[in-house]
Amino acid sequence: MLKNVEKVSINFSPNFDLKKRPNYKVKYLIFHYTGMKSEAAAIKRLTSFNSKVSCHYFIKINGEILRIVPDSYIAWHAGTSSWKNDNFLNSSSIGIEISNPGHDYNYKNFNTKQIRSIISLSKKLKKKYRIKKENILGHSDIAPLRKKDPGEKFPWKLLAKNNLCLWHNINVNDCKKLRKKKLHNYKNFDYLLFRFGYTFTKNSSEKVKIYKNFQRRFRPELISSVIDKECYAILKSLI
Ligand SMILES: [Zn+2]
Repeated sequence: MLKNVEKVSINFSPNFDLKKRPNYKVKYLIFHYTGMKSEAAAIKRLTSFNSKVSCHYFIKINGEILRIVPDSYIAWHAGTSSWKNDNFLNSSSIGIEISNPGHDYNYKNFNTKQIRSIISLSKKLKKKYRIKKENILGHSDIAPLRKKDPGEKFPWKLLAKNNLCLWHNINVNDCKKLRKKKLHNYKNFDYLLFRFGYTFTKNSSEKVKIYKNFQRRFRPELISSVIDKECYAILKSLI
């Protein structure tokens, strides 16, 4: 499994903080998709001075892993972001970009080679930096008002089976029974979302963005702005 990780190629970006960070500062692992038409364009953007964006690792369509910024430097991948009491997560995270055109350009399934690399790289980083599985997140978790990546096709459930992220324990039949059953009061759901880690908002259109991102991550079968009893049961089981 680790064979792939050992074959990390280098393609450095100039976009990182010059001050080094100690290993203990790394607390989060954040996944992204590139969201660009072509892989070459995505790599060019992440490594060109003018873009002011970067990441630590890039997973190509063929599964190959590129090192864009060394772990010991802060890469610029998260932007304005928060999770629980932490803000501006660039300083405390490792960012992994996965080649995928994303929702704007015919969003694709992540392929087997990519998934193999995602899992082996994540295992290695989780162990090295003692990252808690609840801190292995998507860009859409930490910046839910701006971002949708890595999106509903990202294999969160499989990652959870590999002990790499949280997943709920509601069985498939119960999920089906609860799906589309009306939840009359969203107040407790909103509170639990906040307790889980998402940013808090009273604005209704911002709430919808957070609901959808919660669904993309934990109920990818049905992404709507409507919170039903299945969503509520899933969230409760996560906390
Ligand atoms: Zn992103």
